[in-house]
Amino acid sequence: MTSLSSPFELAQAQHYPAATLYVVATPIGNTADITLRALHVLGLADRIAAEDTRNTGQLLARYGISKPMIAVHEHNEREAAQRVIEHLCAGERVACVSDAGTPGISDPGAKLVDAVREAGFQVVPMPGASALATALSVAGDWVSTFTFLGFLPPKAKQRASALQPLAAHAHAMVFYEAPHRIVETVQALADAFGPARRILIARELTKLHEALWRGTLAEGPTWLAEDANRQRGEFVLVVEGAPAQTSGDENHDALLRVLLQEVPVKGAAKLAAALTGASRNTLYARALELKHEGGEEDEEGGEPD
Ligand code: SAM
Repeated sequence: MTSLSSPFELAQAQHYPAATLYVVATPIGNTADITLRALHVLGLADRIAAEDTRNTGQLLARYGISKPMIAVHEHNEREAAQRVIEHLCAGERVACVSDAGTPGISDPGAKLVDAVREAGFQVVPMPGASALATALSVAGDWVSTFTFLGFLPPKAKQRASALQPLAAHAHAMVFYEAPHRIVETVQALADAFGPARRILIARELTKLHEALWRGTLAEGPTWLAEDANRQRGEFVLVVEGAPAQTSGDENHDALLRVLLQEVPVKGAAKLAAALTGASRNTLYARALELKHEGGEEDEEGGEPD
């Protein structure tokens, strides 16, 4: 009779080749959110390539692990990759970790992976926590397809330019944001995509003050402003994509709203028609309505050319 192995025995029994880079996910807040395989590989590794060796040292100490480390961060990833490759040449197992979650997702790791693979060594993923997947898992059915965009540019003008082409994007969009920019970013999303779309604000996931709030883009800034504590911590924002077709005519309101901020009604209709292929007359009529909804006077008369 065969006896079933425990999950930890299973993690240990697997073959972990030498001269290999292991890309290991660590928790995004709750220290208990680490996999058995990750713990085993961190214990087995000869060396750890860490975004911040002090942070990682403290985390590993909680698991009773201590290893030689190499700092691999945003500003030295290419040079540090050469050092990692030297250790792989010597037959070592090197584990790569970031400060939180999955390396390579808005974190160092991707350039290291490229360099190691180019040098002919194997790269093995050790999956685990990521703020992206954690937020999406509780977003709901309105997020059936999504695009991950990470951090938006910090400056208002660049942020608005980055958002503008996304106004007509049909899939939900996932952004990361830091506490000091959360209010202005949610407002920028409302300005770019219009007030009606749904947003999930996922704050401090897996931590003591975890909060999940879902509402519209119009309501988002108000919700954040109501309590300063709501602006603290780390954030994932999941925003609904552009509305699907309605009765044969596509709804291009979000795009028209963005264009109307920059050009007159006629120009907005012309550009929207070129971008979407929809009727210029229909878009012109709708752009006029949107302009009136916004309480503004017509700045031009007549029909589109
Ligand atoms: N590599 C990480 C991952 O797999 O999610 C992301 C690292 S990125 C530098 C850090 C950003 O991820 C934070 O600014 C925040 O937007 C998001 N994030 C990380 N942990 C989070 C958490 N516990 N709750 C909400 N967002 C989080």
